[in-house]
Amino acid sequence: MLDTVRSVLPASAVAAAPEAPGEGNVGMYRERIVHATLRPTEVSQVQELVKVFGGPGTPCGLHAISTGRNWGLGSREPATDNAVTLDLSGLSRIRTLDLDRGFAVVEPGVTQGALAKQLSGTGRILNVTASSAHTSVVGNGLDRGVGLRRQRVDDLAGLEVVLPDGDLAHVGWWPEEHRSTAVYSHGLGPELTPLFSQSNLGVVTAAVVRLLPRPEAQRTIRLSFTRNSLAGATDAMRRWVSQGLVGGVLKVYDVVSAELYGGRVGEFLAHISVDGTDASARAVARVIVEEAHGTGLFTEVHDSAVGTGSDDVVVRMVESAYAGDPDNNDALLEATLGQTAEHIDAEGTGWLFFLPMVPFSGQRIAEAHELLGRVFEETGVRAGCTVNALSSDIIDFVVSIKFQRNDLAAGQAHSALERCYELFAERGFIPYRLDIDHAEWVDRLSTDSRALQLTRDLKTFLDPNGAIAPGRYA
Ligand SMILES: Cc1cc2nc3c(=O)[nH]c(=O)nc-3n(C[C@H](O)[C@H](O)[C@H](O)COP(=O)(O)OP(=O)(O)OC[C@H]3O[C@@H](n4cnc5c(N)ncnc54)[C@H](O)[C@@H]3O)c2cc1C
Repeated sequence: MLDTVRSVLPASAVAAAPEAPGEGNVGMYRERIVHATLRPTEVSQVQELVKVFGGPGTPCGLHAISTGRNWGLGSREPATDNAVTLDLSGLSRIRTLDLDRGFAVVEPGVTQGALAKQLSGTGRILNVTASSAHTSVVGNGLDRGVGLRRQRVDDLAGLEVVLPDGDLAHVGWWPEEHRSTAVYSHGLGPELTPLFSQSNLGVVTAAVVRLLPRPEAQRTIRLSFTRNSLAGATDAMRRWVSQGLVGGVLKVYDVVSAELYGGRVGEFLAHISVDGTDASARAVARVIVEEAHGTGLFTEVHDSAVGTGSDDVVVRMVESAYAGDPDNNDALLEATLGQTAEHIDAEGTGWLFFLPMVPFSGQRIAEAHELLGRVFEETGVRAGCTVNALSSDIIDFVVSIKFQRNDLAAGQAHSALERCYELFAERGFIPYRLDIDHAEWVDRLSTDSRALQLTRDLKTFLDPNGAIAPGRYA
């Protein structure tokens, strides 16, 4: 089979095992059996490769990655053994940038740093995540990652997909050459774009990414509070989100997570972005500051536009990322993991993520924190938590587990991760992204067997020979 592959790609773009040993992964998940890594640079090569692997009797399937920096969930590893990695980082063109209509067409290798740089000084921003500037816009969006402005999948207006038979389809909205249409992603009839996120139904070779209007004014309100005020402070913040005072994703670092990320330790730390015109942002910030004081729940209330800045690494990252600038993200990453993006998987501190959705209420958030206390009692591992408010009803409750890279500490960290899955799921706090060791939780968490079967029927129909390998969600 590799001989056929070599007729599609130059020799330098094919690394066959054992010449391509794993580089390790920051989560210390078991390294899967991966037979080769293929690095196409053209869409036509991807189509040819998918055709090769989609032939009858092919012994293994392709595991597509964009930049492979899915740290904490498995990095570049597939969920199952016996795969060939299709590394798309060499497809790295920004094909189109339309500031007027607010979209970019980007390939999987385009990083958030590269796209944000193109937008610097323009009237548009990219919804950036808190991860490295060297992570992929497309890869993160396809895994339903979370940016500082909203969940990344909401940025994907359309996708260019290589289907398992090698054909190329453009689903959702796609720019036309000879007329200018509005960026409306729903089209007519059943929508196809969602079929390709957290999916092994196709390989995505480009995406239409929505660009947000740059706020004329943006300020960040920082609030601190103690553990005793957790439920009350959460309800107060929910009110501001539900009444439309908050721009972007409200974030709360607990004491442990602020420490894990290398920030200043002490109390819970909330960040609230307020934006609009200069006058409206000033007025809304004043309302939040006054109301925050009025609750008596917050120990510190700080408006970034008033008074001095902060040298805290977490604060600096969050404040610039709200404005669409990921340039401080890598400093946070290094403070967190002691390595640059290039070396995180090979050496440095270990890191795991557990990502459940929790209803936005003081009581439920306090309950989720109590579960982390139970995990600590049972395993000795103290996990940190960052709350991302995706709406006034939903919290992305990011649980992070940091550990020394040795077998003993890794074993304890993975036991803690296992307990998180069990305890949180029991309470109805269901993960929205899975790591490579918990792929089978798709079955465990499914609430309707017919719906699950429908997904599998689609896979069998579209990809009868398994050109695209089973992944985290299959
Ligand atoms: C300190 C720190 C902070 C972080 N902060 C955040 C954060 O704020 N938000 C967040 O979401 N994550 C965060 N992460 C996690 C992670 O680093 C990001 O989610 C990162 O963007 C994922 O890596 P990637 O972009 O290289 O995607 P990849 O690893 O390339 O892709 C992710 C998965 O999507 C699928 N996929 C990728 N490309 C394709 C394709 N072209 N076709 C089909 N399927 C594909 C594959 O299943 C792949 O495994 C953080 C991690 C750390 C360590």
